[in-house]
Amino acid sequence: MFTSIQETAVRQSLVLPRLAKLASKPPQCLLIEGGSAEERLDMARYWACVLNCENGQEPCGTCQACRQIADNAFNDFLLIDREEEDGKLKQDISVESIRELLPVWGQPPNGGGTRVTVVVEAQNLNGNSANALLKTLEEPRPGNVFVLTAPQRERLLETLVSRSWVITLAWPTGSENSPEVAEWVGGMLTFWRSGQGWFERTSAKGALDKEMGLKVVNGCQRELRNALLNPRSTRAADALSGLFDAKGLRRLDLVLGKAQESMNYNVNPALVLDWVVTAAMPKRR
Ligand SMILES: [Zn+2]
Repeated sequence: MFTSIQETAVRQSLVLPRLAKLASKPPQCLLIEGGSAEERLDMARYWACVLNCENGQEPCGTCQACRQIADNAFNDFLLIDREEEDGKLKQDISVESIRELLPVWGQPPNGGGTRVTVVVEAQNLNGNSANALLKTLEEPRPGNVFVLTAPQRERLLETLVSRSWVITLAWPTGSENSPEVAEWVGGMLTFWRSGQGWFERTSAKGALDKEMGLKVVNGCQRELRNALLNPRSTRAADALSGLFDAKGLRRLDLVLGKAQESMNYNVNPALVLDWVVTAAMPKRR
């Protein structure tokens, strides 16, 4: 299990020196954004290893602490996530899941290191749970540090972000879209250029099921990452960076993130994509 952490650490090696530096005086709350959800959680585990490894600050992967953190079996490594109901994840992180840990945080860590509590994909906090967490962060909790993971900081309450030290992972790159997905992304680009040709696509009978809808959103995210990293890497990325300024690209990223969530909650994929193209429509320059 430690292998996954190690592989992510290698891919995200640019942030490792910063984490090593932070380890001498760990911030009370670290916000890990960027990358993929798995990479964010891996980096949260890496950080917990840095703070608890028995063999110094570069996690060894072999001591008991490192192995247990990787296997979710470490006493001083806590995950707060959405609960499951009937085999499905609930929409929000509940306030109870924060409250039930208050007595734990009041106690010193079990081992000789620092207790690390990770709020997994903190954009799923609701008003109540976000406030409960904020209160927790406002009070000193000796021996405890917190990690929030989120696709990007804009998805979290500003008050949470301002209390956090932000680490940004590199966005996932590589692999091209399938021709079918590329075709849909091309349709979006056409609409953003001309304001035409989109709604015929989504209203065509049987054009989109949930699986295809998610693929299109992912495909668009991929081209967005390409546009941010190297606009000339693909034609779609080049087109995106021509249509949107930096703010527009950031906004598109937010819109795509919301679209992904909606589809996972079984909102009609055609309606979601119609919302995407209109909500992200670039301003005329
Ligand atoms: Zn270790």
